[in-house]
Amino acid sequence: MVAYVIEHMEDDEADTSFPHWIALEYAQMLKWAAPNTVIFSSLSPTSVKSLSEQLIARGAHPDSFRAETKSVLQLLKDEGIPLEKVCLLDPRAPAEIAPQDGNDYTWFLFGGILGDDPPRDRTGQLRAHGFPGRHLGPVQMTTDTALGVTSLVASGGKTLSTIPFVDHPTISFGPHEGVEMPFRYVVDDQSGEPILPQGMREHLKADMDRSMDDF
Ligand code: SAM
Repeated sequence: MVAYVIEHMEDDEADTSFPHWIALEYAQMLKWAAPNTVIFSSLSPTSVKSLSEQLIARGAHPDSFRAETKSVLQLLKDEGIPLEKVCLLDPRAPAEIAPQDGNDYTWFLFGGILGDDPPRDRTGQLRAHGFPGRHLGPVQMTTDTALGVTSLVASGGKTLSTIPFVDHPTISFGPHEGVEMPFRYVVDDQSGEPILPQGMREHLKADMDRSMDDF
């Protein structure tokens, strides 16, 4: 078994409840990762409670995840896991993820970052600690998609070239309404649609309606 670790790097101190958009992505990660565990690290104490409540309210089993205030570095130290057994998913890593990595690494580490367009290389803050890295191709993915693709390869034995992707899809809400997402997504082989976190379409629509009202 491997573990998937998300070093939370978004500002969550100000909020009493964990930001909804990120909670949707984090809930999706549990689906992609099952039956492996997902560890959310570097959370504020408020977020540990709020995120756990939101994940369980969305049907997550309490044993499927750990919400920690400790950083990933502190967790590795406490659990005696050497840095070289942790694979950082890093858009700037020289080597591509491969099925063999599922045997070579114990933890797969991601930046808990909502993503910027264009990317600002915030993953570099984790790279600086010297983790071995693997990339998932040349296009930025959302963190939940990055975890899903890593799971398909490291746990499922697929290679990137056999996974159907779509880049920068427009999520449409009607003939003249939609929003372009600046990321690469896995395509659902049934619907042909990008795989989004449950509830994300609704969240994007509500966001778009709110911004229209602000005009
Ligand atoms: N904008 C951030 C940057 O430039 O570092 C990346 C944010 S991305 C939404 C969140 C995380 O998903 C990254 O920290 C990385 O762990 C992972 N990720 C996303 N796309 C990736 C790719 N193409 N290759 C490797 N990891 C990726």
